[in-house]
Amino acid sequence: MSTYGIYQQEKVSSTYFFLFRSCYNLNIMKQPINIVGAGLAGTEAAYYLANHQIPVRLFEMRPQKMTPAHHSEKFAELVCSNSLKSKSLDNACGLLKEEMRILGSITMEAAAKSEVPSGNALAVDRDQFSQYIDSKIRNHPLIEVVNEEVKTIPNGITIIASGPLTSDELAKNIQKLIGQDMLAFFDASAPIVEKDSLDLDILYRKSRYDQDEGSYLNSAMNEEQYRLFYHELINAKKAPIHDFDAQYFSGCMPIEVMASRGEDTIRFGPLKPKGLRRTVDDHPYAVIQLRQDNAVDTLYNLVGFQTNLTYGEQERVFRLIPGLANARFVRYGLMHRNSYLKAPAVLNHNLSLKAQDNVFIAGQLSGVEGYVESSAMGILAAIFAKAKYEEKKFPDPPIKSVIGALNYYLHFASIKDFAPMNANFGIIYGATKNNRQATIDDALKLIQEWKSLL
Ligand SMILES: Cc1cc2nc3c(=O)[nH]c(=O)nc-3n(C[C@H](O)[C@H](O)[C@H](O)COP(=O)(O)OP(=O)(O)OC[C@H]3O[C@@H](n4cnc5c(N)ncnc54)[C@H](O)[C@@H]3O)c2cc1C
Repeated sequence: MSTYGIYQQEKVSSTYFFLFRSCYNLNIMKQPINIVGAGLAGTEAAYYLANHQIPVRLFEMRPQKMTPAHHSEKFAELVCSNSLKSKSLDNACGLLKEEMRILGSITMEAAAKSEVPSGNALAVDRDQFSQYIDSKIRNHPLIEVVNEEVKTIPNGITIIASGPLTSDELAKNIQKLIGQDMLAFFDASAPIVEKDSLDLDILYRKSRYDQDEGSYLNSAMNEEQYRLFYHELINAKKAPIHDFDAQYFSGCMPIEVMASRGEDTIRFGPLKPKGLRRTVDDHPYAVIQLRQDNAVDTLYNLVGFQTNLTYGEQERVFRLIPGLANARFVRYGLMHRNSYLKAPAVLNHNLSLKAQDNVFIAGQLSGVEGYVESSAMGILAAIFAKAKYEEKKFPDPPIKSVIGALNYYLHFASIKDFAPMNANFGIIYGATKNNRQATIDDALKLIQEWKSLL
């Protein structure tokens, strides 16, 4: 390069550095953006903003005050399954994950560092996953962590990411502000057992249709074993639920509720034997799958066995599963109220509250469902809050992407029967079965273009 070229390059870099420093200094002179909740959405929002030089004050109430489903003090705890669903781009949740990677997702970074074998799904070691996020967030120079329960909505630009188990007092204050009740459904988590308490002569390794060498442990039942198990399951004692208005979310229905709909219902659901024969001559009547839950391979969770049975009944009934007769439970299944807002009635197109447009709603509370979707709404809320902070207007995310389609759904879904939404191709504008590859290519291209405008 000529001397002039080098001179020009240095001039550009020093001007850029000066501009960068000025923006940075301007930003730190402004009040930080408040984020309530260091779960999946809150940590995504904090990471995005801090990485864009915007100071953040992140409030988290654990461990002083725990929710009924969290077990640790770590940020971004996965409260139930350790699966972030499909890795495949032709699955909408897989595509959403790729869009999030483009946008700089901490959830996707953490998942890459903590992945455990799980066939086509992206499953993680839950402790390594949240440890990664916890330390990145706590050590970020632009993030101040405040360890307390937020009871009233803080002043200034605020992202509320307090999740489906938002503490009561904050929930009441949000309701007061929006002028209507939050909606709720019941969600349940599945038990986790210790591997060395399982009978590995009875269980066998296999992934459905041999997607890989066999990430799952499987327990096959013959018809007689199934009928006995089924009978005990539907007659087992359930823990009491005190909230009669809430509904079950169909994607996370307790196994005993699903079973009560008919003797074969769970055999066509989580206990489906298809693609899981041990040998070609085997014809299992039902198969239960167990998925590795930690990187050191000592814990397994019972796939699809979210439950509201009492702890004693979980031990009694689930030990009837072949290979689990002596299973030690390190965590029992649990069921909880899961709150969300009636988004189309109370949110603007940029996830801010119609009642107060400097307050943004992220995560499950915004009306999406699932770990990945909640995280995605954390990134989106951060992008919109950044626009507010910088007094700019950003275009909405492309409706031909999964993240844009979810946002569009929150704004335009029917208010009357609004229900939380998972990532799926049905909500993407123009997507059909026949144009899947074009839909995927468009979504990723559009997200890249959108990112360059932010
Ligand atoms: C029991 C249960 C099981 C679930 N199982 C699954 C599953 O298997 N797979 C799946 O994809 N999705 C599941 N979900 C749904 C959902 O994806 C998760 O709940 C997800 O964690 C939601 O992300 P979030 O960031 O919105 O909330 P969270 O991850 O719950 O984060 C909210 C954070 O806010 C904190 N907080 C709450 N109130 C306050 C306050 N007032 N002040 C300060 N901090 C506060 C909480 O301690 C928490 O850390 C489940 C939900 C529940 C309730």
